[in-house]
Amino acid sequence: MALRLIQSLEQNGISHQELFAWTEDQWYQFLEPAGKAKDKAPVCYRLMQKIREDFRSPENLNLLGRFSDEQLINYLTTLPGIKLKSALCVMLYSLNRAVFPADSHCLRILNRIGCIHLDIRSKQQREQAQAELNQAIRGDYQLCYELHTLFIVHGKKTCGRIPRCELCCLKPLCAYSAAST
Ligand code: SF4
Repeated sequence: MALRLIQSLEQNGISHQELFAWTEDQWYQFLEPAGKAKDKAPVCYRLMQKIREDFRSPENLNLLGRFSDEQLINYLTTLPGIKLKSALCVMLYSLNRAVFPADSHCLRILNRIGCIHLDIRSKQQREQAQAELNQAIRGDYQLCYELHTLFIVHGKKTCGRIPRCELCCLKPLCAYSAAST
């Protein structure tokens, strides 16, 4: 759905400058097809408002390229609605930084395999694991990018909420699969 929303911006020729000036109502209209517009529209509006205050125009966002990784994490996580995982996604995919955003797919798969041990329902444990995995994996852009995209594909196609272990190439290594056979 996120991809479709981005494509709709491109198809409708919405410039960065226009996006900068959107009202909360415009965010609502834009997000409505994806659901959760009531919750997300005010957050997107406040986030853009803060970026506007800090950078004045979209062109100035290039200044983020001069920030160190730590400065970026510190800045991005001050924005409304942005936590560590989202900040790391922006850094990896928009700023080409060698960081590793451990999203729900990564955590679920690593937990099932037995590489990490956490109560996946615990927000505190998830956030701690995200920080630790970034510390452990960051530093090699290609590795971070490929590993993250592979976890997403594997999580969507094979190791989802109901895992399809019979189709999985990781089965010989996997604690979850071993325990359930
Ligand atoms: S074997 Fe099953 S639980 Fe383990 S990673 Fe593959 S799909 Fe997930």
